[in-house]
Order: sequence, then structure tokens, then C-alpha cells
Amino acid sequence: MWAMPPPGLLVLCLVLQALLGSASQPPNIVLIFADDLGFGDLASYGHPTSTTPNLDKMAAAGLRFTDFYSSSPVCSPSRAALLTGRYQTRSGVYPGVFYPGSRGGLPLAEVTVAEVLKGRGYATAMVGKWHLGLGPNGTFLPTHQGFDHYLGVPYSHDQGPCQNLTCFPPDTPCYGACDQGVVSVPLLLNQSIIEQPVSFPRLQPHYNTFAQDFITACAKRKQPFLLYYASHHTHYPQFGSKEYVGRSSRGPFGDALLEFDGSVGHILQALQDAGVGQNSLVFFTSDNGPETMRMSRGGSSGLLKCGKGTTYEGGMREPAVAYWPGRIAPGVTHELASTLDILPTVAAVAGAPLPNVTLDGYDLSPLLFGSGKSPRQTMFYYPPSPSQLLGVFAVRYGKYKAHFFTQGAFHSGMTPDLTCQGLTPLKAHEPPLLFDLESDPAENYSLLTGSVVGPELLAVLKEVQLQKALFDERMDFGESQLARGSDPSLEPCCTPRCSPKPSCCSCTSPS
Ligand code: MG
Repeated sequence: MWAMPPPGLLVLCLVLQALLGSASQPPNIVLIFADDLGFGDLASYGHPTSTTPNLDKMAAAGLRFTDFYSSSPVCSPSRAALLTGRYQTRSGVYPGVFYPGSRGGLPLAEVTVAEVLKGRGYATAMVGKWHLGLGPNGTFLPTHQGFDHYLGVPYSHDQGPCQNLTCFPPDTPCYGACDQGVVSVPLLLNQSIIEQPVSFPRLQPHYNTFAQDFITACAKRKQPFLLYYASHHTHYPQFGSKEYVGRSSRGPFGDALLEFDGSVGHILQALQDAGVGQNSLVFFTSDNGPETMRMSRGGSSGLLKCGKGTTYEGGMREPAVAYWPGRIAPGVTHELASTLDILPTVAAVAGAPLPNVTLDGYDLSPLLFGSGKSPRQTMFYYPPSPSQLLGVFAVRYGKYKAHFFTQGAFHSGMTPDLTCQGLTPLKAHEPPLLFDLESDPAENYSLLTGSVVGPELLAVLKEVQLQKALFDERMDFGESQLARGSDPSLEPCCTPRCSPKPSCCSCTSPS
């Protein structure tokens, strides 16, 4: 009977395997990004009724993070940081998010993870929600940012009139109120609109086929690849295809989550079928916390405070899993990590040089392969509308977190905690609110409210103040891309010369 090797030897084997693997054939990279999925939304993070068998499998067989952060509590800036390894303030993706007619976008001078990997011979594709701008003639679309192929809706699917969206059952308008007075939501293939408005019941099957075809084609020609799958799930308004609607016990949010999970399973299966499952790093996380203003259709941050739009933990701490069978040992890590670390980590794993720019991320490969800890000791929290005057709102330093400023957000409304809500104004804290996130992850009990503060906490206070001062001083704000405003003529329209706009922008898919 074979005996299990001792844990140390197992780790050594995994490290050697990883090194040998990277020396021969660079691994495929699959980045899976959920939308507005909160820290408490998955069964593997404690949700009692979510059904996500594929994500559960990844969490059980991969490295599951408990202290993983996005760079922003809203969509566009979070996505900019994921793709560039830089805070959104550097790339100018602030304040807030892009709109269908935004003049700006993620600047083309920014180096994306797709461009980093293309330099190493990777094929690259993106499927799903872009939300980093379109601009004149699609200047800012993924195909100009290092992706060879793109299929998706280029922004949030509530940024168009919901009554024109087909959800499920067929011909049923999507639930809720979405943006009015703009073009209906388009589906793009590379830079061309192939459907407007998009049909949501057919969208995910379309994405699955696209992802599978890309994986299969790359595997066939033995070319390493990057697949960036940015799902619209579980952002409001929830939708699903026939296979998933009404299938979960958690209502429409649960159905959307189930369909998202199904697409994760589809990708994992495609990797296996193509024979590249053992040479693919799959990383899953979410862009920002739950939109609790949607109540039961808005997701959950679990025991964390508040959600989307805030710099409390619920706004930016996310579920995350690194999955690579045979290379990454199953486990749970409490080490600090961030979407900012994806680009440097992927570059290291692929053997690609880093771009010659200021990066805010760290190479997590020692943590992934069991040879060391996370190099990340701090995390800085920007609100959706950052300013040079105030700098970061909060600082995480080891297990401590200090709030220098707090503010509610409408996205985080409808919870019993009034501090989360949109009418709660900006408040400066001097000294800052200070929490021990290991003993108080819910940020309920500030350590500095008592009259006596011991020397250890005074030292922590001094350190977090220093960290904030240094970080703010060194941050170089790029020109705001959102301040460039919007122009209705830039909204994507499948029949550009039609009238009256925006309602005439309507084309049915031939498929
Ligand atoms: Mg989002």
C-alpha cells in the first residue's frame, strides 16, 4: 500500500513541479470575475442556501482566500486594477464607473495582463462585461487592450432600459428599474454589435460556447492562452437561461448564481476535455461587494459590514480561489492578497517580464505554491470617488484596519446598519477608527474608544498613520477618464444613422 508523503515533501514536490512546468510550457491562465458577488454569497464562505457545485469544487481543491481584496467598491475601477496591477487612481479610472457614452476609458498606454502575456506568446480572449470604456469608434474596447478576441456586453447590463431586455420566461421584461434615455444593451463580437438589445436567456450559452471554442482551438495548436471571463452575474437585474431559472432555492439571485456556477463548470470541463486541465491556473474572485439596496436580489457580504460603494470590509473583501490541480495544494489561507496582485503573479508564473510602470501588486506565487507567505502587508481603500485631498479612506496593516474617513453609499442601502446607507455623510475620524479584523472582522468595536490606549495600540496607530501618509504622498493621480464626460453620439448603436435615437438602435441577431 502506498503511504502519503510527509507534508514537507509534498510541498517540495509541488514547488518542483511548478518550476519544471513553467520552464517547459507556460501555463494557461483563466481569470473568472463575478460581478457584485459578496463575501457571504457562496456556500464555501458560509451561505446556507447558495448552490454552487463547481465553485465549491474549486474552493475544496484549490487555495481559498479569506482576506482577499478588490481595489475598489465599484465596477470600473476594480476592473482597471485587476487588468493593470495598479490602483485606479494611477490609470484615471475614477470617479465612479463608465457609461455607454463615456468619452474616456482605460488609457491605451496602460499595460494590461493580456498585453503582458501576449509578449510571451499567449493567445488572449475576453468574454463578458468589459466596463472600461468604448470611446469614439470603440477606441477603448478589449481588442485594443491586448485581447485577440472579445464577446460580450461592454458595460453593466442595467445601463440600458430594462423594459427592452428580455429576461425569463421569454418576452418577460427584466425585473426592476435600469438606466433610461440611453441605447438598449448591445452584445459585441470584437468591435461589432451582433445583437441589440441583447437576449439574456441566450447570453450565457453563447458565452460558454465562445469560451469552449477558444480553449479547444488554443489547445489544438498547443498555444498557451489567457481567458478572461467577466460574468454579468450576479449584478442586478438578475437573469438566467432556461436551464437555470427557477432551479435554486435562493430565488432570482440564486438562479443567476447557479448559472454563473454552471459557466465555471463549463470552463473547467472544457479545460479537461482539451487535455490542458493540469496546465491551467484558474483564478476566481469578484469585482466588489454586494448591492444590498436590491435587498434579497442584491447579494450578501455575510458577517462583513456594509457592501458595494463603501470602504467597509463588505465593499471590497471578496471570495477568491486559486485552482490548479496538482500544482496548488488544497487549503485555506488568511494571508492578505488583492486583485492588484494578479498581474505580477501571472507574469511570474508565465515567465513574462513585468511592464516598466509603477505596480501596486505583488507576486503571490510563493503563497500559491506553498513556498512562502504573501508579500502583501497592507491594503489601501479608496472610495468610488477618490481625491488627492483626502487620499485613502482606510488602511489595512496586518490584522488591523484604520478608517480615516467613512461614508455610506446608496448601493449599500436597505440594511439595518444605518452607517452603510446613502444618506450617511462623509465623516473624518481623528484619531481613526481602529479595528482588529482577526477578532472583529465585522468592524463593530473600535479599539480606540476607551479612555486608556496601551503602548501596543499607540504603535499601531502611529504605523497606520505613517502608511497612509506615505501612500498618499507617493500616489500619482492620472487624469480622470470619467471627468471627460459623456456624449450620447458615442453610445453604441447597431444602425448608426437611424432615428429617433436611442430607441431606433435595435437589431436582432441572425442566430
Ligand atoms: Mg460590480
